[in-house]
Amino acid sequence: MPHPTIPLEGAQFLKAETVGLAEPRGFKALGESAERSAKHTAEIAATIPHWQEWREAANQIKSYAIANLDKLLVEFERNVTARGATVLWAADAHEANQYILDLVKEHNVKTIVKSKSMVSEEMELNHALEAVGARPVETDLGEYLVQLARQRPTHIVTPALHLSAADVGRLFQDKLKEPFSAEHQHLTNVARRHLREDFIIADMGISGCNFAMADTGTICVVENEGNAGLSTSAPPIHVVLMGVEKVIPGIQYLPVFLNLLGRSGTGQKLTTYTHLFHGPPPGRKMVVILLDNGRTNVLKDPAARMALFCIRCGACLNACPVYRRTGGWAYGWVYPGPIGAVLTPHLIGLDKAGKLPFASSLCGACGEACPVRIDIPHQLVHMRHRAVNEPSPMNSPMERLTWAVWAWWFSGPKRYRLAMAMVKLGIRMAKILPWHPGKLGAWTRGRELPRVPGGPAFRDWWRRNGAQMKPTSQTEPITHP
Ligand code: SF4
Repeated sequence: MPHPTIPLEGAQFLKAETVGLAEPRGFKALGESAERSAKHTAEIAATIPHWQEWREAANQIKSYAIANLDKLLVEFERNVTARGATVLWAADAHEANQYILDLVKEHNVKTIVKSKSMVSEEMELNHALEAVGARPVETDLGEYLVQLARQRPTHIVTPALHLSAADVGRLFQDKLKEPFSAEHQHLTNVARRHLREDFIIADMGISGCNFAMADTGTICVVENEGNAGLSTSAPPIHVVLMGVEKVIPGIQYLPVFLNLLGRSGTGQKLTTYTHLFHGPPPGRKMVVILLDNGRTNVLKDPAARMALFCIRCGACLNACPVYRRTGGWAYGWVYPGPIGAVLTPHLIGLDKAGKLPFASSLCGACGEACPVRIDIPHQLVHMRHRAVNEPSPMNSPMERLTWAVWAWWFSGPKRYRLAMAMVKLGIRMAKILPWHPGKLGAWTRGRELPRVPGGPAFRDWWRRNGAQMKPTSQTEPITHP
């Protein structure tokens, strides 16, 4: 299948990281909030027995589902169609957008209420709708805020994590002409009042899909605000946007995922609302769009298939020390954090996002946090291997030349010593020359030059003193009889 045709923001981590650094206050709050969420998730996970067994069960169910994706999708299509829904298969974002634009035209749709859907972010659906004069309204509170602010989500579960209550108060003052307040209840009421009007007049509702059951044709959507319930029941047309990896074999497996998703995503035993759609209600229309958009690229790589197990809980983002410091925009595309660093190169191509797998310290916290036991650290290493061997920014002629020179300098003791002396000299000179932060690019904008240690290098010290040193009792050489 082809890569998405929607113009992307060039998901190149090192270029985009300056976005995060430019907003130190917002991103400090984001980091603290993500850390709190990770702690909360760990605490609530510890309260249920057999947490590890639940994770293993989820891993095995997903493993079966992804191995049998072709059959399960056809089974799901047959069953959901029998319940009165229409199924459309979209190879890429462009095709999926076109299906929706056709519906908008056919039914003269003016206002569309949307519940949270990362797939619609992938499709840049709001831009496509606005381009034909339709009015999409995000109804998840976090999505509503980032839509008003004309920003992108910074987190897949909590999209406005970077905004404080005062930021939201100013946003409502500016965009909705409401009196300023930073009081949470007041702000929630303002959003509720404005959104109610849109639910009433909307001609179409769009939702995502958390799980699709092949055996019954059931679609499950979980949420906390009631907005998905209203988006899908108030308007006469309900469009479901579903990545093809969301199908699971049977409804009996759903509790395993519900048990894990609420706890890992928001530290809840269950999300406040769990909707199960069994086709459209009488007199209504339901259209299910099954989107590939690069997912079959993941299937082609057996070592990477596990990345399709993701249930988008966001736990790996909260656990990641890199995400906590940079925020979601730094990853340059829809999916941030460790799973974004793995998935994005598959979905949009290594040539555009080959740097992302390197946006990790490989500390392993993401793999520990993942409720479906995706081995994210190994997935990252696998994608690094591919990035340096396939066309990508990490395999450019300049990159290869740089590492070849580095290898040559560091493969001989004399050259190594000379290189170290030159580095020390370079740092000393940079310190006495007029120094402007950021002069050497993004790397130096948030970092200080290292201090050159005084005294001789260990190598020189050892040459002078090592021979005279006596082994201590612990290092006494073992003498064989
Ligand atoms: S990779 Fe795992 S932890 Fe990260 S969002 Fe997906 S399911 Fe959650």
